[in-house]
Amino acid sequence: MIPFPSTGAVTLILAAVALRGADLSYTFQYDGNPQHGVVVDVRFDVNAAGPQQLVLPSKYGGQNEMWRSISGLEVIGGPVKLQPGPRPDLRRIHASGNGPCQIRYRVAGVTGPLGHSVYYWPILKSEYMHLLGKAFLVMPDWPELSPVSIELSWRLPDGWVAINSLGLGEGAQRFSGSLFQLRQGVYVAGDFRLRRFEIRGKPAAVALRGRWGFTDDEFATFVNRIVAAQRAFWKDDDLPKGANLDPSFRYLFFHELFHTWNPNKLTHSGGVPPALYWFSEGFTDYYAYVLQMLEGFESFPDHMDRMTKIMSRYWTWRTRNLPNHAAAQDYYSDPEAQKVAYFRGTLVALNWNAAIREASQGKSSLNDFMRALKSRVERTHEELTHAVLVSEAERFGIGGAEKQIARWIDHGDTVEVRSDSFGPCAEMIGTDPPQFRIARQQCVEWFK
Ligand SMILES: [Zn+2]
Repeated sequence: MIPFPSTGAVTLILAAVALRGADLSYTFQYDGNPQHGVVVDVRFDVNAAGPQQLVLPSKYGGQNEMWRSISGLEVIGGPVKLQPGPRPDLRRIHASGNGPCQIRYRVAGVTGPLGHSVYYWPILKSEYMHLLGKAFLVMPDWPELSPVSIELSWRLPDGWVAINSLGLGEGAQRFSGSLFQLRQGVYVAGDFRLRRFEIRGKPAAVALRGRWGFTDDEFATFVNRIVAAQRAFWKDDDLPKGANLDPSFRYLFFHELFHTWNPNKLTHSGGVPPALYWFSEGFTDYYAYVLQMLEGFESFPDHMDRMTKIMSRYWTWRTRNLPNHAAAQDYYSDPEAQKVAYFRGTLVALNWNAAIREASQGKSSLNDFMRALKSRVERTHEELTHAVLVSEAERFGIGGAEKQIARWIDHGDTVEVRSDSFGPCAEMIGTDPPQFRIARQQCVEWFK
């Protein structure tokens, strides 16, 4: 996934279900002075009968030792003492009785210029803050996926707005969620301007700060259109979360929003192992481009232009033939090993769409495959693996999917782009790298 753009900030949220009471509650206090950090109070019930641990941030996005942002962990109330744990990201909770406890800690902001990897660490400014759940939340070691009632409260400078993947931070946010959702969340607050609206009948909001090449209302309209389009694509209005309208920004938005489904809804833990990044990033990239075309943001010739560029970049890419396990291993340390996953997945998606169209005589497309995959994992509770992808691909008549994954992904052979990748819309006129001549000005049917 791509961190937020550093030139400004835009966040999209959708309302969560409100509940009474809370199993786990947090209060976040920030006075706008980065030197003071964010003071966090976390409250939950302890049980003297069972061992419990407190889990601090550890690793995320290739960053390590993220507990270094956390200091001053102390017990404010309750029958507990904190003791060192077996690892630096763990503390033992020694409880002498049952009941609520309150623990406080301070989160320090990262220092230095805002670069790509810095965005994984807590960012505290005088105008805003940007925090990732995995980088700043300390939690009890409860089961990651079990639903619990959660409350989040914010104490912030006057005029600030708090927004996050779980809702708007007005007063207290209460909802039923999991520790996993809290950790996956993005939490921002600051001098944002808020626009509320409805998308296909569900409340949504966008928050913007800074100056962009568009008005806030234009942005809200843009977001509304994209979110509605992707929900319609997945036939799914249950979206638990959520930037100038120039092409690179638009791409970012389409790509990131697609992750709501791939991989978040295609997996039970919400994430995939690095060996599947070619699918979670590459197929997402393919759809970031295809949906922009289907939604009328780009013409077919624009789309063709992008795909041709992707193919020619991939053809000369240093890591083009890196085996999947090596690409996965270097994913966070070598940007070229990271990017090759995107290229491979995009081109496999292009091929599979053509294969499905051929096998079904134009009745189905990769879009049906994606929706079927989602229904399947929801029904069977399988984890997404190469074997699941292959069996679903075979069901859709993609011949040799297993061999393709073994060669193009596992072994790292160059993906062979099918000559009918664009159906009747473009004719292949070169293979090394692949080149196409446009035969039609629009190609919506092929990608629907
Ligand atoms: Zn991504």
